[in-house]
Amino acid sequence: MSTLEENLKPSIVLLSASDLELELKELKEEIKSLRDNNDIDHSRLNEKIDNIAKSITWLNIARSQGMWKSRTCRHMENDACSAWNVNEPEKLGIPAEAVTLEQTGIKRISVLKFPELCIACPLYEAKRS
Ligand code: SF4
Repeated sequence: MSTLEENLKPSIVLLSASDLELELKELKEEIKSLRDNNDIDHSRLNEKIDNIAKSITWLNIARSQGMWKSRTCRHMENDACSAWNVNEPEKLGIPAEAVTLEQTGIKRISVLKFPELCIACPLYEAKRS
């Protein structure tokens, strides 16, 4: 074949209909597999959301017990816990509005504003009437 003929050689590739059909079939299967995987991902996601919802229910129970303890503990004075001196409340996620700084430099936590402090507190003692 001369160089001229080489340059004139068509660059179009002819595909047979059966090749196209096969490619289409493979593409369909790929799309179906992607959809199936997506369904599995959705189902896993729903399962995780359900677990988170259950955890939140548990937290609501814990929080309500913390509220009850904050109102009935003998260490609660002027809305604040007198038993704990929390040096770095921000590191524990205690909101700034629940922290008061006494003249002595001790930081007190308002358990009415942040009853979560009481949830697992080992110092709880019921008020004596
Ligand atoms: S339960 Fe604990 S954190 Fe709450 S007021 Fe009593 S001593 Fe303080």
